[in-house]
Amino acid sequence: MAETICDRSSELLGDYVENRLAPAERTAMDAHFETCAACVELLRSYMAIPEIARRATAVNMPPEARERLRQFLAANKSRG
Ligand SMILES: [Zn+2]
Repeated sequence: MAETICDRSSELLGDYVENRLAPAERTAMDAHFETCAACVELLRSYMAIPEIARRATAVNMPPEARERLRQFLAANKSRG
């Protein structure tokens, strides 16, 4: 198997969160989230990041910005 469904869903996660998936893909993602705790966890952490920060992580982030993002994510996580 070249690619697991988890690899696929992590690739599609950004589009899923931003509502850019085709309906069939979205349905497949939803079905996968029902059964896969690892991907739900990934989805949660992804959704905790504001879009602007997600874009910022795509480029090289200065260490202080990265640290602030890390703290932001940690704070969000503890709120559950
Ligand atoms: Zn999965």
